[in-house]
Amino acid sequence: MPDLFFDSAFLSGNWERDVRIAVDAGGWITSVRTETTPQGARHVPGVAVPGVPNVHSHAFQRAMAGLTERGSPTGDTFWTWRERMYGFLEKLDPPAVEAIAARLYTELVRHGFTSIAEFHYLRNDPTGRPYDDPVEMGRRILSAGETAGVGLTILPTLYRASDFGGQPPVAGQKRFTASVEELVGDVAVLGAGAAAGTVRVGLALHSLRAVTPADLSVAVDAARAMDPEIPIHIHVAEQTREVDACLAWSGARPVEWLLDHAPVDSSWCLIHATHVDSTEVRGIARTGAVVGLCPTTEANLGDGLFPYAEYRDAGGAWAIGTDSHVGRSPVGEVRMLEYAQRLATRTRNVAAGPKARSTGRVLLDHAWSGGARACGRRIGRLAPGYRGDIVVLDPSHASLVGRSGDDLLDSWVFSGDDSPVSDVLVGGTHVVRDGRHVREGAVAEAYALVARALGADTPQLALELED
Ligand SMILES: [Zn+2]
Repeated sequence: MPDLFFDSAFLSGNWERDVRIAVDAGGWITSVRTETTPQGARHVPGVAVPGVPNVHSHAFQRAMAGLTERGSPTGDTFWTWRERMYGFLEKLDPPAVEAIAARLYTELVRHGFTSIAEFHYLRNDPTGRPYDDPVEMGRRILSAGETAGVGLTILPTLYRASDFGGQPPVAGQKRFTASVEELVGDVAVLGAGAAAGTVRVGLALHSLRAVTPADLSVAVDAARAMDPEIPIHIHVAEQTREVDACLAWSGARPVEWLLDHAPVDSSWCLIHATHVDSTEVRGIARTGAVVGLCPTTEANLGDGLFPYAEYRDAGGAWAIGTDSHVGRSPVGEVRMLEYAQRLATRTRNVAAGPKARSTGRVLLDHAWSGGARACGRRIGRLAPGYRGDIVVLDPSHASLVGRSGDDLLDSWVFSGDDSPVSDVLVGGTHVVRDGRHVREGAVAEAYALVARALGADTPQLALELED
């Protein structure tokens, strides 16, 4: 394909003008040249920046965003939200999940996410039995990713218990459970069929609540025997109740326990890690593991506040995810992260710290580099050997006009909700043009059918909301 030409681009930490990027037929960047000419190249007007990785998604939850926002006389919490979520997913079949995921992924890519780590635990049919093809749901996720033209790290998820100490799963969890052998089989099957370059298969352990120490160890060993650097994700320390339960079970806090008992290293991604003390903060940073922060979901669920400044000072890696998808924009996530810290500390520019540097740049640098590590893919940079995942910002957009350099990133993050993303290329292929996903019409129609049917067909959620 012809080279791509951009008026300016953010390349490996530097702003450059008149940039030509060559992407091969497999979607990999083969060369990047600066101060060149557009001759013979395809000119994409605007400012090119790397696509942003999204390290945490439960795609089906997109369809319930906005449906859990009513008060209750007993007080609403994460745990009551979870009950509503269990009720909601009872109605979801594979075609519905595919339609929801495709809609979600087109929305995510339109805002600048080009690679998504799908923490995939909706495995079984509504009665709790595996589908005839046990990875039916996983294949639907991959198909949705293909429709949206986005990169994926799919993480089949081990889910065995309802609480610490291997408590039996409750009824609402029957669609998640599988034996360790079955789940490792899912990783192998999906890995064997994965599209080279665009899909990576990893392993998720749902949480320390859902996985016993023995299961954790067998699953991690088996996954690493298949792929020594396989990405491993786990929800950890999201809620204080989980911290208390872990202390009661083991005498240790969740992250403390994990660091002491699991081979945590830079291929691990600790989702949330909200409730961590100073020892745990330093412990995570030392391993090189990535903390997967999901700021709008964490705010929506009332999880608590991650000790950002302490983790920043320890040199820890982090990335962002959209988790339940109440927010779907990378800049929305990093802005929420920064604003929550400002509110808590009554100071400004927390991510930048004491150095006179751009907060937007620091936030996005983490999202790019930590995100690439957590997805286990060569992404997050516009450089040879990386994927041709490129977000193009419109420099004439009201939020960006007159800006240059890092001010563009600060204005993208901190200048409101109206997105200046004009085009998005994934693996060198144009999937968003002039702010619109190339398959938006058909994908939106299929989703609308599902959303309307769910709206008419979820009495348990509807009843609760009418209270
Ligand atoms: Zn999650």
